[in-house]
Amino acid sequence: MKITLIFFSLLLVGFFTNQESFSQESDLFCKDGKILVYRINAEKYACLNPPTAEKWYDSGIAEPVKQLSSIVSIHPEKMTSSAPLPEAAFGPQIDFSKGYFVDEISDDLYWVTDGAYQGMFLVTGKGVIAVDAPPSIGQNYLNAITEVTDEPITHVIYSHSHNDHIGAAVMFPDDAIIISHKWTAEQLKIRNDPNRPIPTVTFEDNYTLDVGNQILELAYHGPMHDPGNIFIYAPQQKVLMIVDVIFPGWVPFKDLAMAEDVPFFLYAHDQILEYEFDTLIGGHLTRLGTVEDVKIQKEYFEDIQKNAGIANQQVDFMAIGQEVGFENLWLVFQIYADRITQQCADSTVPNWIGRLGGADLFTYDHCWKVSESQRID
Ligand SMILES: [Zn+2]
Repeated sequence: MKITLIFFSLLLVGFFTNQESFSQESDLFCKDGKILVYRINAEKYACLNPPTAEKWYDSGIAEPVKQLSSIVSIHPEKMTSSAPLPEAAFGPQIDFSKGYFVDEISDDLYWVTDGAYQGMFLVTGKGVIAVDAPPSIGQNYLNAITEVTDEPITHVIYSHSHNDHIGAAVMFPDDAIIISHKWTAEQLKIRNDPNRPIPTVTFEDNYTLDVGNQILELAYHGPMHDPGNIFIYAPQQKVLMIVDVIFPGWVPFKDLAMAEDVPFFLYAHDQILEYEFDTLIGGHLTRLGTVEDVKIQKEYFEDIQKNAGIANQQVDFMAIGQEVGFENLWLVFQIYADRITQQCADSTVPNWIGRLGGADLFTYDHCWKVSESQRID
């Protein structure tokens, strides 16, 4: 892995200092000695064996990929290949015939995952507290609980309102107490979704749940992802769960994981670091997180903020207007926003491939959100 990273770093240095000597950038994205080409008519990228690639070049079907920026962010939807994942992006093996993985973090606090989504539950001695109910895990969440305890589920906590994290909550017992932030409850009343029962207990700033031998401290620190997303902290185990904000080993999903308030999303990193925790449950992807993962993601967004700021200063709106005319203002704005976002992505991506999974895929979208926030927030 280290050798790959060193090789990769050398390639990047070569690319930025002397493009002529940087002829193997395709190795960054294709495996088994294949090289990346651009298929002209299909408007897609593809990995080919070198002899095939030569034939395709000769017949005009494809052309060599010359610019790293052209594959990392201009048309990410056309990519048929991606940068190799860093070791940090991998988690425990999931037995896919079983469909889920459950493990005790400590003191009767467990996490359950299907490799894409994560839930948490605590066995209290007087019933089980379940946090979230991702539909992708579904009934396997119940299987995971019965695998470790006979106690019934007495309490359910919603981390926030989104269907992909709580859309299987209807499977829990009807008499379970459901707890959420008041705005999550308000949103769910409007959604009127039978799969997401309305919470029976809500709070505004803080709520302590003390059941049997377990304690959970729930807190609201602002709309960091969704108007009612909360921090769920187990002080005895030093486990913090906050969903859709931190993605250990990976960059967040597109557009800051659909955060509704960019400044609050960025601020969330500092707020999380105020907690004393050893383990973070982010709700997504392959593994649990640590304090270091939060610091790394914070550094990633500081890089984006810096590069978006420079691009916002350097790209000249009036010059674009003079170039294409001011008759269609949306055209001027479209080119203006694209150039800022592209410059930000080009400056950021090379620093993060090899550190966070998906940096080549979603950095452009994060640059767009952050640069636009810098202009309007
Ligand atoms: Zn969400």
